[in-house]
Amino acid sequence: MASPGSIAQWHEEVDVLIAGFGVAGCAAALGARDADSAAKILIVEKMSEHLAGGNGRVSGQSLLISHDAEALYQYQRNMSVKNPVPDEMLREWARQMAELEPYILERCAEAGTEFVRGSGWSGGEAVYEFPEFGAENAVAYNSFVKPIPSGVWITMKRCVERRGIPVRFESPIVDLVQDPDTLEVIGAIVEQGGVRRAIRAKGGVVLAVGGYENNLTMQRDYYGLAEAYPFGSPANTGDGLKLLQKAGADLWHLRNFGQSGGIWPAIKVPQWPTVFMRRHLWQTFSWIDIDAEGQRFYNEGAPLYYTHYKEKRHGHWVDTPLPRALPVHMIFDETTRAHNCLITQAMTWNTVVEGYEWSDDNTVEIEKGWVLRADSIEELAVLMGRDPSRVRETVDRYNTACRNGIDPDFERPGFSLQAIENPPYYAVRIEPGIVCTSGGARRNIESEVLDHRGVPIAGLYEAGELGSMISDLYQNGSYLTEAMISGRAAGRNASARAQRS
Ligand SMILES: Cc1cc2nc3c(=O)[nH]c(=O)nc-3n(C[C@H](O)[C@H](O)[C@H](O)COP(=O)(O)OP(=O)(O)OC[C@H]3O[C@@H](n4cnc5c(N)ncnc54)[C@H](O)[C@@H]3O)c2cc1C
Repeated sequence: MASPGSIAQWHEEVDVLIAGFGVAGCAAALGARDADSAAKILIVEKMSEHLAGGNGRVSGQSLLISHDAEALYQYQRNMSVKNPVPDEMLREWARQMAELEPYILERCAEAGTEFVRGSGWSGGEAVYEFPEFGAENAVAYNSFVKPIPSGVWITMKRCVERRGIPVRFESPIVDLVQDPDTLEVIGAIVEQGGVRRAIRAKGGVVLAVGGYENNLTMQRDYYGLAEAYPFGSPANTGDGLKLLQKAGADLWHLRNFGQSGGIWPAIKVPQWPTVFMRRHLWQTFSWIDIDAEGQRFYNEGAPLYYTHYKEKRHGHWVDTPLPRALPVHMIFDETTRAHNCLITQAMTWNTVVEGYEWSDDNTVEIEKGWVLRADSIEELAVLMGRDPSRVRETVDRYNTACRNGIDPDFERPGFSLQAIENPPYYAVRIEPGIVCTSGGARRNIESEVLDHRGVPIAGLYEAGELGSMISDLYQNGSYLTEAMISGRAAGRNASARAQRS
């Protein structure tokens, strides 16, 4: 933290300073403007204009719509039993969620984007992740916003732009200016063109800088993953967590199941630090995943994409073993190669922002050497750096299960038991991919950051994925909507505080 005494001169003064131009940062700006039409608001964003927008920009765009606050409260409470959040926070969040639909519709109308009912990919109107916890009463429907990709972020961004709220790109927040005795936040240090600028924020600073997906050291220290790669923005390197620690905030939700968003099968190529998401819905199933010992290790045919990659074990929803099984390879044959693009094109940084178009039949990526090819399973095993007889044994055992129509090892469903028998054969490394982290500062429903005594740190707010209130299990569409709710509260409160000062 920088103390006020260390600031020789304030370069600028605003009412509300917002760090991060994702959905939460945009919602904070709109909330601040709603609270005071004359408020001087500034958004500072780490990335260039071309690369801004965070995870929201490349996300699945799914929004959870609920019309029943009580049912939603119960559902979220049941999903968070192992890591509960304060009851009054949950209740108020559920109340606001049940009233969010008109807000989203208004923003879409204002931005000229199209609100669409339906999950967009599951075939149904809603995704009920955990029916036994009350999903069907809690979720009215899922929705998304066109244009795809990025509809939700484009909507919020346009609304910010329409209000003339300035956004300063390539300007990361690097420090907070704080009273060392009271911890009150008075402003922040923002780096612009390599120069540190002190910006005074009368109402406060809103941290909406996303998570730590792209910080392997934090993944190791906080979550315990040895290897993990982000599907979303490479900018999300845990900057917010570092600032919050310096600020004396109490931290939470560093260790949710699957970081709530889950640990998904991903494909990493040398070009980018971010990863491709392996496709979820398959036309053919002549494929398996093998672990460090060259053996299958889970039910690859289960619809894990409906539960954010949590599977039920010993009566509890837990992460799949993928991160503990590394190195993992996917092995498939010519039939699966020809009928399935290996990745999901509709979301992720690599496809949406980097604009990489993976070939429908994977031939381009095979040519690039990203996917291995061989005429026999044994030759493929050699290319993978594995024991050929072990891999042969695993494929034979799986093929026998296919012929018998029963998978005695992992109970893969019958429709997904298709033998790997049509050469040539292929393999690709599968890595743990992170959708989002929700670790950050403990906060209240007003988005005030709490210190170690549970007392708000004056002038410091947090919104969105950084310190999200979502703990443990996760219902599709909750992160983007929570970014809106927490962002609005942060902006509104910081703006009101500026008016009082
Ligand atoms: C592939 C994928 C699919 C997803 N699908 C869904 C879905 O369908 N529905 C759903 O609800 N959620 C989904 N999510 C999660 C959701 O996108 C995020 O939780 C949400 O976008 C978080 O919003 P945010 O504004 O808090 O963070 P972000 O959207 O990540 O924005 C953070 C912003 O802060 C900037 N930043 C970082 N560091 C600094 C700094 N030091 N100074 C200034 N700026 C900084 C970043 O560049 C970025 O612009 C998905 C995520 C991913 C990756």
